[in-house]
Amino acid sequence: MGLDDVRPRAMRSAAARELAPSARGDGPDGRGPGANIASPYHDIALRKIAKQLETPAGFIRLSGPLEHDNIVNGDGLRAVLWTQGCPNHCKGCQNPETWDYEAGYLVKIDDIKQELKQFSGQAGITFCGGEPFVQAKACREIADWVRSELGWNVWSFSGFTYEIIKEHGGEPWELLKSLDALIDGPFILSQRDLSLRFRGSKNQRLLHLEPNTGKILQVE
Ligand code: SF4
Repeated sequence: MGLDDVRPRAMRSAAARELAPSARGDGPDGRGPGANIASPYHDIALRKIAKQLETPAGFIRLSGPLEHDNIVNGDGLRAVLWTQGCPNHCKGCQNPETWDYEAGYLVKIDDIKQELKQFSGQAGITFCGGEPFVQAKACREIADWVRSELGWNVWSFSGFTYEIIKEHGGEPWELLKSLDALIDGPFILSQRDLSLRFRGSKNQRLLHLEPNTGKILQVE
């Protein structure tokens, strides 16, 4: 999940380029404010959220290098973290290479923090993938650190719906509660709409959240 970055690769951080080849997911959704938030894809996602990707303590598995100054995966200039591993296997996914739980590469979360410190002028960070919510614990650690140490906001894409994540509870719900915004739901090729803000198909929603509670403040 996450929209393709159209910037030349030369604009990405030098340190990040050394880590690995990039991989990007697709993105997002489209309901107007006040829309019914119940998703028709509830059951699809419910069957898939159980399997978390296992990583050694203090590590996260990524599919591509950290980016900065990204403008297509959330409001303002943003750092983007591309996670590896996705169980959703959406038809039409632009980045099936991010599905494999054992592909990509492991990175120390402390090294990510050090690199993020070098990025100036960012409004926030966005978790893309792959599926960030199968590495919920590692993403939450980064989210909490970014908010407290850098003062940035935190967005994430997920192929799971808000309702599924809440129902699942545990680390995925804790990650959701650390966010300012969630772009939720699988990419559905038959509902593809590139005119949507930060979203790839009409079933997806941009949910503005209250940090710490996960309460939905606004639906786009
Ligand atoms: S959630 Fe769907 S679109 Fe996003 S990376 Fe996974 S398979 Fe691809």
